[in-house]
Amino acid sequence: MGQNDPRRQIPRTDQLLAHPELRHARSRLGDDVIRSTVRDVQEQARRGDLAPGDVEARVLAAVAYRAASSLRPVLNATGVIVHTNLGRAPLSGSARQALLSAAGYVDVEMDLPTGGRSRRGAGARRALLDACPAAEEALVVNNGAAALVLATTALAGAGEVVISRGELVEIGAGFRLPELIESTGARLREVGTTNRTHLADYAAAIGTQTGCLLKVHPSNFRVSGFTSGVGIGQLRSLADEHQVPLVVDLGSGLLAPDPMLPGEPDISGALAAGADVVIASGDKLLGGPQAGLVLGRAEVMARLARHPLARAVRADKLTLAALEATITGEPTPVTAALHADPVRLRERAERLAAATGGRVVQHDGRVGGGGAPGVPLPGWAVQLPEPVARRLRTGDPVVLPRVHGGACLIDLRCVPEADDERLAAAVRAALAHVHDGPRAAGT
Ligand SMILES: *Cc1c(COP(=O)(O)O)cnc(C)c1O
Repeated sequence: MGQNDPRRQIPRTDQLLAHPELRHARSRLGDDVIRSTVRDVQEQARRGDLAPGDVEARVLAAVAYRAASSLRPVLNATGVIVHTNLGRAPLSGSARQALLSAAGYVDVEMDLPTGGRSRRGAGARRALLDACPAAEEALVVNNGAAALVLATTALAGAGEVVISRGELVEIGAGFRLPELIESTGARLREVGTTNRTHLADYAAAIGTQTGCLLKVHPSNFRVSGFTSGVGIGQLRSLADEHQVPLVVDLGSGLLAPDPMLPGEPDISGALAAGADVVIASGDKLLGGPQAGLVLGRAEVMARLARHPLARAVRADKLTLAALEATITGEPTPVTAALHADPVRLRERAERLAAATGGRVVQHDGRVGGGGAPGVPLPGWAVQLPEPVARRLRTGDPVVLPRVHGGACLIDLRCVPEADDERLAAAVRAALAHVHDGPRAAGT
């Protein structure tokens, strides 16, 4: 590097680290993160991608922008309520509060009056039992998949799990329930065909090897046409006759029926129909944190709770806190989005269209990965040029629109109304960028 090499002007690491703003950033960021940010920016300047005089400002901006967690909050403008790629259910205000309170030390497994140990997560258990009086016992584990593995392992061991071929579903990203169940040593005894299974098929398969009967609600697809399945009530009679437990995996986890989703089974209904154990996810239609809910008859539930795997899949304190608050608190954002008034959605869409020059079009929302496949939720969207979508995804706040039919669609169903102004500002900024190019928009 020669005397006049501009790279000599790059501020040194110790100079930058001594800047008051970087010293202050140490209250929220680790030293390694700050140092590596400084190194990255210096490196940009060495490569000639940044003027040496801009290094300090770039470091300060990068550190100011850097949060300890890299997860970015997203305004979900897709109209898809339970969006797997966006973390499924957004939590209610009560659940968020509960998460924060439980983040420190908390009496998750202690009886404070006696100072002795208590049942873990008693509050979440109580809330579930109060919401589903048909259940005698409830257990919360890590997620629905863990609940299914625990139930089938505890009840079938190395024996057989009898299941209809029409219910051997893949639950997303290559995870298949059959493989999951078999991963712990249980064997599947498949009965019937993809489209039709009869009670006699189950009856013929039950034998000395049978550990349990399993019924799975195919929550992410629907078979139509020449189909038939066997209901929980019929399976109950068979289970009684042969003294084997009946496990029902509902997937989505409605606590009680919802008139918006007539085809979606609920936990209380499945228990009343005769299931010994019902399994559901906490973060689909229930609208809570990721969790696996297991509810059912005390005697069968005790076998699950005693199994060593129960310890490996137990829920953490944050989940227990948020789940209890989800059930006992105000209606969840998932419920609000599901029951959003189309008239109100249209008013909001029109206001956004007026503020941004977009056009209001009819647009159906969807329940999403959470269940109720094929159930459209009539509503509205604001249509914008497709290139706006990318700007929205990379802007601040981050907005995820739907890209469909060569257009960028903004559906307000899953956007809290309080965020409408922020969303409109984000759309205007994205439009300015797309129309005028990066230079004119100033970034
Ligand atoms: C979603 C789903 C699962 C898995 O639940 P997770 O909470 O995602 O682990 C299992 N079974 C069915 C039927 C499902 O829909």
